[in-house]
Amino acid sequence: MSEAPAEPARTPRAPGRPAPGPGGDAPAAAAGPPELAVRLLTLAPGVHAAFTGRRGGVSRPPYDTLNMSTGSGDGEEAVARNRELVATACGLTPDRMTWMRQVHGADVGRVPDPGRSGPGSRAVTEPAPPRDACFTSAPGLALGVLSADCPAVLLADPEAGIIAAAHSGRPGTALGVVPALLRAMTGAGADPARTRAVIGPAICGGCYEVPEQMRDAVAAAVPGSGCLTRAGTPGLDLRAGIAGQLAAAGVREVRIDDRCTAEDRDLYSYRRDGRTGRFAGLIWLAP
Ligand SMILES: [Zn+2]
Repeated sequence: MSEAPAEPARTPRAPGRPAPGPGGDAPAAAAGPPELAVRLLTLAPGVHAAFTGRRGGVSRPPYDTLNMSTGSGDGEEAVARNRELVATACGLTPDRMTWMRQVHGADVGRVPDPGRSGPGSRAVTEPAPPRDACFTSAPGLALGVLSADCPAVLLADPEAGIIAAAHSGRPGTALGVVPALLRAMTGAGADPARTRAVIGPAICGGCYEVPEQMRDAVAAAVPGSGCLTRAGTPGLDLRAGIAGQLAAAGVREVRIDDRCTAEDRDLYSYRRDGRTGRFAGLIWLAP
């Protein structure tokens, strides 16, 4: 297992924002809108992923600005606009982005290709299923995970043409949502030895303080997840625990985006902010 940091990411310019002119036509002080916070990754040829942040969207405080979740209390129009901006930056359309109603469980579902029916496609109009992990082999269909501290785990077996996404917070990690997802992918033809994984931004072990009994219970279920916080109190390092789960399942290539949501102001953190938005992890096969 390698734990290299996520590769340097491209940050696309917000759609419609003019590129800076070489001739200095615009005064330097006239800053345009902030660049859209979307980090694009390539997991393998034809397999793309992205993590969004907070900059470049339209949501108002406390959801400012690129909130991707309709379940957070933010206005639906703002979230729809943010999703449109992110979809464009990813070369997708919002009707090709699917979401889950995340319930901190370990259920896994397969996402069928909803067809390319354009606006009104089933991908957006059907109620999101209550689950925390899903996989698909449909090209050009993005699987989305919403987060404000919990690790999003994105997986792909490029040879089998199967991609997957999991929301693996504390309860889901303890329940083994990522191992369950790998079993489901394997049942559909994927091979863990060919599978590539990326674990997204999350609250780090140095910040994630929990009661000692909780730390011990999770650490017993997920080796490597128990830790001490920077304050020397009982803590959990969920990304380390998930990396161990992936390794135990035979996944050899694991990247970790080691940004801490509680420390990085360009990410949403429920721990830090309480009422706030959600950023997204997205994975898709090239259309
Ligand atoms: Zn931290």
